[in-house]
Amino acid sequence: MSIAVRGVSKRFKSVSVLDDINIDVAAGELVALLGPSGSGKTTLLRVIAGLEIADQGSILLDGEDATSRPVKERGVGFVFQHYALFRHMSVFENVAFGLRVKPRKSRPSEEDIESKVRDLLELVQLDAYADRYPSQLSGGQRQRIALARALAVGPRVLLLDEPFGALDAKVRQDLRRSLRDLHDDLGVTTVFVTHDQEEALELADRVVLMNRGVVEQAGSPQEVYERPATPFVCNFLGDVNVLQGRIEQDTAFVGGIALAIPANAASGDGVVYVRPHALDIRTTRDSRYQFAARVVHVNSAGSIVKIELLAEWGKTIRAEVTQERFRQLGIQRHSDVFVSTDPSAGVFAHVSPGGASPSSAPAAEGRQPGGGHLGASGVAYSTVKTNLLTS
Ligand code: ADP
Ligand code: MG
Repeated sequence: MSIAVRGVSKRFKSVSVLDDINIDVAAGELVALLGPSGSGKTTLLRVIAGLEIADQGSILLDGEDATSRPVKERGVGFVFQHYALFRHMSVFENVAFGLRVKPRKSRPSEEDIESKVRDLLELVQLDAYADRYPSQLSGGQRQRIALARALAVGPRVLLLDEPFGALDAKVRQDLRRSLRDLHDDLGVTTVFVTHDQEEALELADRVVLMNRGVVEQAGSPQEVYERPATPFVCNFLGDVNVLQGRIEQDTAFVGGIALAIPANAASGDGVVYVRPHALDIRTTRDSRYQFAARVVHVNSAGSIVKIELLAEWGKTIRAEVTQERFRQLGIQRHSDVFVSTDPSAGVFAHVSPGGASPSSAPAAEGRQPGGGHLGASGVAYSTVKTNLLTS
């Protein structure tokens, strides 16, 4: 079942929590709602489910207006962060619950319930645990049961609100993979809320980035990571060095040093965002787009080597290179190196609103209230709809 969120706004008292949200989820898609705490993710999920009523806008399910439909007619299954399993019921009975409380007319026979629950327990790899009680399960196992229980009634939409949020890293990894496999098998349209960017990028077909009640960007994991539409997205997704400077077309001047950036339509004071992997480290000076730096820390445990550099203008910069490149370079702590940016991947420039005056440079969080604002070039642009950042 497809989901369309159309112009949804919601206030709690006078505070705007959702501001004109528009999202489309295709049938069978797995979409992650990603954003920091308080950005409105849970509220939006509850509006989709019918647990919360929007002040404005509508929810379409399979093209039909479901805005005033009650929860139980929407065909949604839920999983929340805090396992809401029934403590006094066995695992089997927890999963069977939704089937047993169906109206007599649509209630499956005892045999059908039995086989359905067994199938689901197998699906979440807990078929051996049917007779246990929730207190005898680990946190990860309980969330698997919560997932099986949500799926038992054959929901047309699965809504998950930080379902793995309370679990430790290893268990989260396993559950992520299970959810992905389950989704591939069943093809249930799924909306997954998380504040963990890695989880969203790894799991989702598409990621919707939310910040302070607005959608900053929606796109495939690759799109949002490689072509962030706003400074917020750039900061939120992955590690990034934030450098203040002056932007002039395809060059940024940072601490008196020229750096290569993707061609930018606007010029003026602004911010250059550089992913650690977009820095090219050399042991010789061979271009004027390099800066001198000293290696202050090396972490070579892992598939990539993380290098902390002190740039010649006094700022600490994080770089990442492959193990192979690291060996080629032959550098270590205290080595002197020359560094340039690779504008083809992971370098984004953003001219500050009113970029001529450095005092108005935005905080790294970026978004200005009101959305659109005027670029230094005199061209009006919106934080959401046009490319503030070129790539
Ligand atoms: P998220 O899930 O992204 O952390 P929420 O949707 O839970 O965000 O909350 C968004 C904002 O709305 C927060 O500032 C929160 O305090 C506020 N909020 C959520 N629910 C209520 C409520 N029932 N009454 C008042 N404020 C609420
Ligand atoms: Mg929440």
